[in-house]
Amino acid sequence: MRRLPIYFLIDVSESMVGDQIKQVQDGMRTIIQSLRTDPYALETVHIGIVIFAGKAKVLSPLTEIFKFYPPEFPIGGGTSLGKGLDCLMDEIEHSVVKTTAEQKGDWKPIVFLFTDGTPTDNPDKAIERWNSKFSKRANIVAISLGDNADTQLLGRFSNNVLRLKDTDENSYKAFFKWVTDSIKTSSVSVTDRGIDGVNLADTHGINLEKVDGSQTCTVDENFIVVRGKCSETGKQYLVKYAKRFGDFFKSDFKLTGAYPIDGETYESLSDGQNANKFNVKQLKGIPSCPCCGNSYALLVCECGNVFCVGDKPVLRCPWCGMEGEIANAGSEGININRGQG
Ligand SMILES: [Zn+2]
Ligand SMILES: [Zn+2]
Repeated sequence: MRRLPIYFLIDVSESMVGDQIKQVQDGMRTIIQSLRTDPYALETVHIGIVIFAGKAKVLSPLTEIFKFYPPEFPIGGGTSLGKGLDCLMDEIEHSVVKTTAEQKGDWKPIVFLFTDGTPTDNPDKAIERWNSKFSKRANIVAISLGDNADTQLLGRFSNNVLRLKDTDENSYKAFFKWVTDSIKTSSVSVTDRGIDGVNLADTHGINLEKVDGSQTCTVDENFIVVRGKCSETGKQYLVKYAKRFGDFFKSDFKLTGAYPIDGETYESLSDGQNANKFNVKQLKGIPSCPCCGNSYALLVCECGNVFCVGDKPVLRCPWCGMEGEIANAGSEGININRGQG
């Protein structure tokens, strides 16, 4: 039986935290549920998931539909598209059966890449490897979730670059139905007609547009994501801000939310390059701590790290252990000063 490998290469960088990753998580579940009721897909489709932040890993190896359970998606620091592509290519090399003179191998894998940002690494080498060794062996459909990804860069290794224009719940639902339909039509086409290739479903009525990947694209940074540590529980969280469009002051970012994360997993997926770079003045709205409920989750320590604070007079930074008290609480935000002794 020739398998049709479907890979998802998914960006799990910090800007995906909150709603975005939840929509992707729910979307993966609906894809699997729907494919489970499709006789063609059940026969041929195998699903694999590779994730990337600052580092990449295989989250689910290639598995047949009826045995596949969608995993939980972690969040990591950074967007290393190069490492993501390399990890995917290694996985294809390792798991997909090649056609030789003696045997018919698997059908050409179809890869759906979801990303919402610009790479923090230089992906040139990985793109070169893809174009020289994989572009004829596999098909890649690159989807920008929102308008923050560099579609010109995606166009360097994919002939199918699309942009999901809105990232609200309904757009995501329609989008994942489109992904499901595309997998179904591709599995019919290989099974019935022996045509090896990607067969994308109609995008009519979906907030999804085909992008000319050769065209220049300028990307603004649309999110600021700050990592903090809870001073009560020692757990970590991310605070996400989104740029306010149409605002006269360009660098004005509005609070989206604060989300607990698994600190260990976050670090294991990070490249260590993403220091918290922000100016409190740019940020509109300070959240309470999502771990303990302390009223202020964005206290900046001298060590450069961020933690939560309640109404205790003496504070202790859970990152560096420094103790001190609040020095000022003006319009520039709160800063902590080193205590005596
Ligand atoms: Zn806390
Ligand atoms: Zn500190």
